[in-house]
Parts: sequence; C-alpha cells; structure tokens
Amino acid sequence: MNKKAIITSALPYANGEIHLGHVASTYLPADVTTRFLKLNGVEAYYVCASDDFGTPILIQSEKEGKTPAEYVAHWNKRDYEDFSAFNIEFDYFYKTSSPENIAFVQDVFTKLNDAGHIYEKEIIQFYCNNDKKFLPDRYVKGQCPYCQAEDQYSDLCESCGRVPDEIINPKCSLCGQPPTKEKSKHYFFKLKNFGDSLTKWLDENENLQKDVKKYVQNWIKSGLIDWDITRDISWGVPIPLDNTKVFYGWFDNHLAYISTAVKFLNDKGIDGKEFWNSADIYHFIGKDIVYHHFLFLPAMRLGINNEYKLPDYIPTRGHLTLQAKKISKSRNWYIGLKEFLGYYPADYLRYYLIAINPYSQDDLNFDWNDFATRINSELIGNLGNFVNRALGFTKKAFDGKVPEPKSFDDKDSETEQKIKNLATDVGSLMEQNHLDRALKKIMEFSSYFNQYFQHKEPWKNGPGTASCVFLSVNAVRSLAIALFPFIPESAQKIWKQLALDGNINELHWDEISVLGISSGHTLGEASPLFAKVEESEIEKYKKQLEPSEEK
Ligand SMILES: [Zn+2]
Ligand SMILES: [Zn+2]
Repeated sequence: MNKKAIITSALPYANGEIHLGHVASTYLPADVTTRFLKLNGVEAYYVCASDDFGTPILIQSEKEGKTPAEYVAHWNKRDYEDFSAFNIEFDYFYKTSSPENIAFVQDVFTKLNDAGHIYEKEIIQFYCNNDKKFLPDRYVKGQCPYCQAEDQYSDLCESCGRVPDEIINPKCSLCGQPPTKEKSKHYFFKLKNFGDSLTKWLDENENLQKDVKKYVQNWIKSGLIDWDITRDISWGVPIPLDNTKVFYGWFDNHLAYISTAVKFLNDKGIDGKEFWNSADIYHFIGKDIVYHHFLFLPAMRLGINNEYKLPDYIPTRGHLTLQAKKISKSRNWYIGLKEFLGYYPADYLRYYLIAINPYSQDDLNFDWNDFATRINSELIGNLGNFVNRALGFTKKAFDGKVPEPKSFDDKDSETEQKIKNLATDVGSLMEQNHLDRALKKIMEFSSYFNQYFQHKEPWKNGPGTASCVFLSVNAVRSLAIALFPFIPESAQKIWKQLALDGNINELHWDEISVLGISSGHTLGEASPLFAKVEESEIEKYKKQLEPSEEK
C-alpha cells in the first residue's frame, strides 16, 4: 500500500442541496475509503470543492437577486454543513472559483495552447430569439445522435452517457422554441491527439474498473471528437486570450482536484506538487461522468506532460434510485440529506447506503421498507444485540470486570482465529474497493459471535464461561475498529462502552486482530446502540414523498 494518498469525489454543483443520490455514489464511498487508508497509516487527504461556475448558476442567481459569487458562497457553506452532519470528513473543502484554481486553469490552458493542443474555430451557436440569449449545453434539448434517445441535453446524453457532437431537433429548454444559429468564435481542445496515449494508459492501469475501461476503450476506437471549451457567458474562469468568454465548466472543475489539494498541502508546509506525484490518486465518481474522467481529465494531464500524475483509481458507481424510480430534483422525487438526518442518525444511512452499494456501475435502490428491515435485523438484531449481550453479561456476572480466560477448547480456538483473521479478511476487500462486501464480512463476524455466545451459554456459569466472555469482549473491540470507517459514531459509542483509552482513529487497522482487552479491565456502561426503525414512521416518510411526485 502506497503510504500517501489523495482522495477526491465529484464536485457538488453549487446550485442546490445535497441529496441521497449524491452521497451514495461518491462522497460516502470516498469517506469510508479515506478513513480506512488513514487507519492503515497512509498519509491520506480527502479534498473537495464546490463547483461554482456555469450557466445554471448564473441564471438562478439572477432570479434570486444575488451576485453569482454570493449565490455560490451560500451553497458552498450549506453543502459543507450537510456533509459534516453526515460525517463526511473532508480534510479540505474549497471552491472552483478560488484564486488558486483560476490561476491554475489559466496556466494549464496556456501550456496546452503552447503544446499545440488548442485551436480556434468559428462555430454556429444556438441562440434563442425568444429568450434573447445564447443557449449553451443544458439549455438545448433534442435527440441523441448516437442512441436516438429523445429529450437529451446537448452536452450529455443521459441514456448512453456520451457527449453528442450535434444534437438532433434542438429545442430551447427554457421556452421550447427551436433556436436559431449564430456565429461565435470558440476554442477547442484537441482530444483527438490523445487516442493512443489514452489507450496506453487504460491498458497499463490495472487498478481501473474493468467494465468501465471496456466501454471507454470502445469510445476511443469509434473515434474521439475535439472538445469545445469556450462558453459565451460572463460567469466562469476568464480565458487568457479573450476576455469576452469563459471556460466551459468541465474544463476547469476537475482541475480543482489538483489546485485544491496543492493549496491545502502547501499551506500545511508540504510540497503539494511533489506529494501529488508520489501519492495514489483516487477520484470517486458516479457513472454519469465517466466520459469526463476517463477521457478529458487524463487527456488534459497528458497534454501538460504529466506535470500532475494521472489517477490510479477512478471508483465508479451507479445511480441511486428512490423507491425504484429515478431521482429527479425538478419532479421533487428525492430526499435531501439534511431532511433525512432529521429522521435518523447518520450511521443508519451510512450503513444502508454502503450495504446496498456494489463496486460496479449497477444502479442501486433506496427502498424505505428495505431500509427498515436492514437496520432492524442487521444493525440492531445482529450487531447491537451481540455488543449489548457481551457487555451486559460481563456487567451482570462479573461486575464489569473482564475475567481471566481458562484453557481454550476447540470452539474457543476457532473463535480466536476469527479475530486474528478479521483485519486481513476485511482489509483485502477494502483495498479492492469492495466496501459492501467488506461490511458484510464484518456483519458475518458479528453474527458468528452471536451464535458462539448462544452456543456457550455463559449464563449457566459452566467451565467455559470466562473464556467465552473474554473472547466476546475482545470481539466487540475488533468490531468497533473495523466498523469505524463505515459507522464512526456508533463505533466510538462502542469504544466508550468498552472504556478503552485513546481514540479509534489513532489506532492501526491491524489492531482489529489483536486481543487488546486484558483480563481485569473494567468496562464502562452498556446501553443500546440503536433504536428500532418503526413501520409507522416509514409509512409517514413514504407518504411525504408520494404527493410530491405529481408536482
Ligand atoms: Zn445517447
Ligand atoms: Zn427560448
């Protein structure tokens, strides 16, 4: 394992609140991974930034009578608060509109231009005579030229994931009128120059997801198109050669991964560039932005001679659906993160969203009934039950003092081996990004110990009682450490009930497999870790969602 890592996740667009779909695919997996790496002694930093530029923000800020800068400052703050309430622990949260990012973007552009990767071309730009404005990207809808899907944005087909060269039957998405075409001079990035080097990078990087790689390779084979990086609006990173235009948001936003990390590290007295180039780089994304992260982002870094190294991992996950329907903010079919955290503790959602989330592009579904079942049977029935049993029994039978184990029988030895294997069993899955399987492994461990405790019947106070209690209490300790990346608040609660010194995040992951509680240690107070998710509550939350569907 590389001893340095920088972790990023897709930047939240500063134009609305964070909802469950956002955290499921990117922020939560990135946070869990960062916590895991840190426990392994990796100098890992999780950096993020609000994505502040673009037409939707400009228009919305005008509507609200704010300057775009005021508008994005509001969402930057709000997003950060929501993430923090969910225990997404960024080392640094910054913004794409930072002076550091603006300077970096302009520098990258200049270097790409000097290297011959940029050219100017007069293009025909959609213009709406009704709304009296140029219509970039999201403001034009039509039919995808690749998969023929109707009603797609001109900058991204949500059906096939490709960026259309020219959309068929364009319509202004504001008023529905067909736009006219006006001439405008734009800058283009020669993505075509990078077909071979991108292919080489994809072939050589074993850590990239195989299924994603395969269709990106097919995109390259079917021919790359050059990329219009200019927009005729005022809110964006100014183009050095031309002050009437700004860069397209997808030219500047991923560069904020680098500019944000470098600023943060430099401020800490670490050479940011050197750190970046010697660290493992992780970019967590949802599958809707594969094109941008597997083609544009690496091509731009290749275009400036790998001054900043390419990513090692681009963990890509599917979209969250809600009650089996596509999440849509405009149709109000979504649950805000802040709203959800008003219903249940962060750990319930963290547990559920990891448990149902494979390391693949398959979509996953938030279902209220499934959520209730999993929390009640897995978190409470399995984990909470075991922890409470082991600690509660020690309290009752031994006045909270961990007894001296007698000689181990075969069952005890098998059980001890489970503890000794847990760090590796779970750790190897985590290293392969299989967070759901790792969590399942931990829950199987808990389930095993429930059965062991049941089988040993320590309440009968037979000869095996002391060994059973000793091993069970140690298993609770192992669980607390192993669960820390997933459900940090509950893990810390367990730690407190065990009355152990220090903080979990100061330990090493390998401590999971150490029998770290000695006989004679006195436990703290045992109390239930979780409260049942009631069906009546679930029905209420489901109803709150139902009427909004018709809006
Ligand atoms: Zn398409
Ligand atoms: Zn219009």
